[in-house]
Amino acid sequence: MANEHFDVLIVGAGLSGIGAGYHLQTRCPGRSYAILEGREAIGGTWDLFRYPGIRSDSDMYTLGYSFRPWTQAKAIADGPSILKYVRETARDFGIDKRIRFGHQVKRAAWSTEDAAWLVEAVRNDGQTVRISCNFLFLCGGYYSYEAGYTPEFAGIERFKGPIVHPQKWPEDLAYAGKKVVVIGSGATAVTLAPEMAKTAGHVTMLQRSPTYVVSRPAKLAYDIVRWRNVLFGMYFFRLARNKPEQVKQRIIGMVRQQLGPEYDVETHFTPRYNPWDQRLCLVPDADLFEALKAGSASVVTDHIDSFTEGGIQLKSGRTLEADIIVTATGLNLQVMNGLELTVDGRKVEPGKTLSYKGMMYEGVPNLASSFGYTNASWTLKCDLTCEYVCRLLNHMKRTGNRQATPRNSDPNIETLPWLDFTSGYVTRAMEKFPKQGSKAPWKLHQNYALDLMSLRYASVEDGVMAFSNKAAKRVRRREPEKAAA
Ligand SMILES: Cc1cc2nc3c(=O)[nH]c(=O)nc-3n(C[C@H](O)[C@H](O)[C@H](O)COP(=O)(O)OP(=O)(O)OC[C@H]3O[C@@H](n4cnc5c(N)ncnc54)[C@H](O)[C@@H]3O)c2cc1C
Repeated sequence: MANEHFDVLIVGAGLSGIGAGYHLQTRCPGRSYAILEGREAIGGTWDLFRYPGIRSDSDMYTLGYSFRPWTQAKAIADGPSILKYVRETARDFGIDKRIRFGHQVKRAAWSTEDAAWLVEAVRNDGQTVRISCNFLFLCGGYYSYEAGYTPEFAGIERFKGPIVHPQKWPEDLAYAGKKVVVIGSGATAVTLAPEMAKTAGHVTMLQRSPTYVVSRPAKLAYDIVRWRNVLFGMYFFRLARNKPEQVKQRIIGMVRQQLGPEYDVETHFTPRYNPWDQRLCLVPDADLFEALKAGSASVVTDHIDSFTEGGIQLKSGRTLEADIIVTATGLNLQVMNGLELTVDGRKVEPGKTLSYKGMMYEGVPNLASSFGYTNASWTLKCDLTCEYVCRLLNHMKRTGNRQATPRNSDPNIETLPWLDFTSGYVTRAMEKFPKQGSKAPWKLHQNYALDLMSLRYASVEDGVMAFSNKAAKRVRRREPEKAAA
């Protein structure tokens, strides 16, 4: 039994959850809602990650909300500025008052009879609370907050110094003058290496294989508008997918220009895959290349044999000395915010579920999740998802339907992985993720223009979304007619 009821429950108070709160209270006024947040803070990613140099790697004009434009001059913003922006948004629109902190949502059970979800959360004091809602909006991001991903390294226990994962950065880690090895070649590694190199003795970025690294000015002219960035991003992604060789040569040519003819760009900056088969890494003002040129950082492309007392033994026979090792080896992706879902007692298996418009799920009523783009700013898709959810809720209210369920009746829909990235952290998790279909509306567009049509403009009555479960009409009991006198 639920202790409380809301029209809508939102899971998570990060960038997505705060955005969802705004859209809901603006577009569906009068609808009651609450946000359940597992941690004690607003901001999600931007509160959790505290490593030196933490910053966005997409521009803030598109990572910021459509309803609250980012006005600072720096397009590539540091983590604390983004956190401040999310917190201020929550405060300015009164969304912070709707948050229940320390509520980790564990499961939700849909009952068609009640047209409601019964949501179970465990509070920080160990108490389980049950709250029901008519619509459940998952805005809990895409990775586990418990721990980042660290592969098994032989001899890891032998290393004498600190081993740090960027997801749990110790506040007091002193690295000035120290030899640091950063394992990884993703966004976090390319951010950390030049930042730590400012004061460390030396920073070695140790990568198994190279990544595409693109330099971009941190400070863009203020008149660069959201749309221009959106369009450029879409154009670049299309070009990379259609003419990969051309884009590959262009990116590598730019790196060569930065690092000069002596540098071994072939070994360290020429990936074996095509651009946008994995996420590109953006470096503001060529900071990584500057650190490499200055000699305060270096890149080693090799495989780890084992950790030793004083560093890392590589498969090539070379050794790397280290006082500190940073494992920038990625995240553990998490499906549906780690929730167990049931629909009328039947367990929902996310890995066997087809996603609808990349935000709802076949056979799962009144539930949406906010999952952003991998090739553009997260918020662009989340804003559109919120608009769609609000349209759906308003339509249900207007028509008296209490339930909206995506239903597939097309036997020719083929299922495909949710993401087609070849990165390790993606391929490791894709089996557990919902599938996308080969055709609309089951196809996941990584494309803002297509989503704009599908989520903002297309009718919610598309023949696939099934509306049902009208509230039984209350029969007004008539007074028994008085017997004729
Ligand atoms: C280091 C780093 C840099 C990034 N940079 C960019 C970038 O530049 N551009 C970009 O587009 N994207 C970037 N991303 C992706 C980034 O995560 C998103 O942009 C965005 O912050 C995600 O917001 P969110 O609210 O969806 O999820 P999160 O930020 O992950 O927040 C989710 C919140 O939900 C809570 N939560 C989760 N599950 C539950 C549960 N079951 N019960 C209760 N609460 C729950 C969490 O505690 C958390 O507070 C970056 C990610 C990382 C890790």
